[in-house]
Amino acid sequence: MNGLMMDVPATITSLMQFAENVHPNTEIVSVTADNPRHRYTFADAFRRTRKLANALQALGVARGERVGTLAWNDYRHFELYYAVSCAGMVCHTINPRLFAEQIEYIVNHAEDRVLFLDPMFIPLLEPLQSKLPGVKHYVVLTDEQHMPATELPGAISYEALIEPHSDSYDWPALEETAACALCYTSGTTGHPKGVLYNHRSTVLHTYASCLPDALGISRSDVILPIVPMFHVNAWGVPYGAVMAGAKLVFPGPKMGDGETLAALINEERVNLSAGVPTVWLALLNYLVESGKRVDSLKRIVVGGAACPLSIMEDFEEKFGVYTHAAWGMTEMSPVGTFNSRLDRQALGEAEYAKLRVKAGRPIYGVEIKIVDDDNRPLPWDGVAFGALKVRGPWICSEYFKLESSAAHDQDGWFDTGDVATIDADGNMQITDRSKDVIKSGGEWISSIDLENTAVAHPAVAEAAVIGVYHPKWTERPLLLVVKKADAEVSREELLAWFDGKVASWWVPNDVVFVDSLPHTATGKLSKKDIRQQMADYRFAE
Ligand code: ADP
Repeated sequence: MNGLMMDVPATITSLMQFAENVHPNTEIVSVTADNPRHRYTFADAFRRTRKLANALQALGVARGERVGTLAWNDYRHFELYYAVSCAGMVCHTINPRLFAEQIEYIVNHAEDRVLFLDPMFIPLLEPLQSKLPGVKHYVVLTDEQHMPATELPGAISYEALIEPHSDSYDWPALEETAACALCYTSGTTGHPKGVLYNHRSTVLHTYASCLPDALGISRSDVILPIVPMFHVNAWGVPYGAVMAGAKLVFPGPKMGDGETLAALINEERVNLSAGVPTVWLALLNYLVESGKRVDSLKRIVVGGAACPLSIMEDFEEKFGVYTHAAWGMTEMSPVGTFNSRLDRQALGEAEYAKLRVKAGRPIYGVEIKIVDDDNRPLPWDGVAFGALKVRGPWICSEYFKLESSAAHDQDGWFDTGDVATIDADGNMQITDRSKDVIKSGGEWISSIDLENTAVAHPAVAEAAVIGVYHPKWTERPLLLVVKKADAEVSREELLAWFDGKVASWWVPNDVVFVDSLPHTATGKLSKKDIRQQMADYRFAE
């Protein structure tokens, strides 16, 4: 017997219309290339969203077609998120930090009809445009006054595009399973793969990510999403803030600039922010050097990579900011697990330090398990580690236009490519990417644990650990270190630093000092490039 409740589809359109009615006066503040502080309200944003939807229709973009964006976090990108998806088209966010060949591949594979790009990315697109035959229109995210000269065919400014159009638009009634957005993984091996979200997955992910033990977004929050809207939907913040009615502060092109971030936090009274560890390191360094404070900021969410304990400690002790670790991936919309607030006093210092670096518990909607090489489930004891698999309504079932290869196994579980432990309280901790784990004499060593231990040394700015061939043990860990400016530390001192902090057989066999380490387009250490650089390295006999 069916229940007798209304069949109302869960769409981004309903989210937008809800916010327009219920939170019309909530503010959005943005830094853009043409304005250091643009300020307006949800009501203004959604009015312009209707103008943009009319403009897209006038450009001839049909339902289901892809609209590409190469853009920073700002109000125009926000308008694109809503106008494109709610008009029944697919908002394809492109990471401008990818290699030009990858961008060319992605735009052609996605069959983008229109590209909206920040003025800063014109030099990136001009040499590519002859190889992008499917792109019919280029729109530069600025106004007429700031429109740069460009060879992009028929390029028009965003403001000139939407200006002539009406601000009334009848949003189509969409199925909740309709595609709404597309994001390609950065693809460390092979071509990037497209993850195609739908309205339902996005709305469900938004509900879950707003829960108090997840991002905990409420109407009283002022949120600064530093995690980019061009990659994994800025962790869903542009939707969560709209659901809750929270004020949004967008850093535009200044997301790596500690000074601008601190100024935005102080001027706009930001209390919640989200970003990858490198961003927090930049802000911390700026605060320590300048003596500035960020007193309104209460919580930050760190994900995308494991967060070194030293960053969490510095934020809490020096600035009174609580750090939450979180884990997810493009294929998961992206939030999977979240480390909710811990009681330091009740836990005691050692347990607190141990628990807070974990990736946290899954949020309801995400099932997790760890399995061995034969796909047998491993115990949740915080010790056993194996391949991490996930299942749920906002997890990718297959990649875009790769229908032949399901993204999940025969039981419907998606293999994340991560290796993890899960403790008896449901806390997950990533120990490695499967391809980065170091296999020493048949046992596994976590490169992430070793990196975090190294980074806690006061002379170490950044560290990477890779497995290198060893005649007896198959592989042994090699530590690469970038020293802090003016800091000195020897190989022997660093190796001694690991004593008592990790199992003795985990201690790296050698240390190589380098000036810098290579990173991927999403700011993570590129282990593939590091392995290539160290291809000729041999341990001394
Ligand atoms: P890509 O960078 O390849 O596009 P994503 O941005 O989707 O991929 O990154 C997902 C991956 O990032 C995860 O599978 C995991 O390896 C890593 N990651 C994300 N959050 C964490 C975390 N809290 N701790 C460790 N690794 C993490």
